[in-house]
Amino acid sequence: MTFTMGNPFNMQDVGFVRNVRGSCVKLQVRFSYRASDKGQDMAVDYDKLQAIPQRDEPYHIVVTAAHHDDIEFGVAGSVARWIREEGATVTYVIITDGGSGSNDPDVSRRALIDLRREEQLEAASIVGVNDVRFLDYPDGVLQATLDLRRDITRVIRQTKAYRVVCQDPTTVFAHSSYINHPDHRAAGEGTLYAVFPSAETRPIFPELVAEGYEPHKIGELYLNLTQAPTHYHDISSTIELKMAALGAHVSQIGAGDDFENGAKKWLTESNRLGGEMVGVAYAEYFRVLKFDEERQSWYEEEKKRLAAEAAGD
Ligand SMILES: [Zn+2]
Repeated sequence: MTFTMGNPFNMQDVGFVRNVRGSCVKLQVRFSYRASDKGQDMAVDYDKLQAIPQRDEPYHIVVTAAHHDDIEFGVAGSVARWIREEGATVTYVIITDGGSGSNDPDVSRRALIDLRREEQLEAASIVGVNDVRFLDYPDGVLQATLDLRRDITRVIRQTKAYRVVCQDPTTVFAHSSYINHPDHRAAGEGTLYAVFPSAETRPIFPELVAEGYEPHKIGELYLNLTQAPTHYHDISSTIELKMAALGAHVSQIGAGDDFENGAKKWLTESNRLGGEMVGVAYAEYFRVLKFDEERQSWYEEEKKRLAAEAAGD
């Protein structure tokens, strides 16, 4: 089955969409823009970026995360593909200062914050991201405040992002063994409500308009760390880059054998299992919301589902 949608960048993903009812449909690959394999190495001129990109036009992605290393664990494989295969430019927003990333009483919080910032910049540059914003909220006690929402809204308006990627704030537990970190949920909630209504509504945060940031409506929201994936993204071509980026976070996951047999092994297996869901080697998964689709499509889908249910399917 082939989807026909208004925006070609809805179609970038090899693999399948798993809709909320659990049925899968294969997607056609239609992008044709190819960027340099070196990734982005230029300053981004946000004014030239398209709010809703047409085919072959550059577009911008904002990825938010509570902590240094969250992006590398969750979405760096997809980011690397978007940069290399679609010419996307990307901004990372690291919300906390990373200062709670050690239980060692001899490690100074200030030194750790500085070190983790360097590690994050290195991890970002490995996949081709040179714009990293550090919001420096205290690590471990993040809340989805209006200040946080305003700070994220500012970045979305300034960069005119087409796609925003964040952590799913509805995930309280993951599988049967993980209590989701409250910072992840707060980061996700702050981003969600920055996307809507704050980024696109002029009277909200008038101080941002005073700073020169006019309203902006994004096209797509990708939620990672989700329990309700709709979308598996093939990262087989970028899994090595993703692991190299992860390896930059030495203060968190060690180096050498500790890394190879620890975080790298675990994450590789996790992405392999993701890939197995859609018949590719490695995949990351997301819950995806597309704001430029016709609302009608939901009703059509619902009608088909009800008809299938009535037919005893
Ligand atoms: Zn985290």
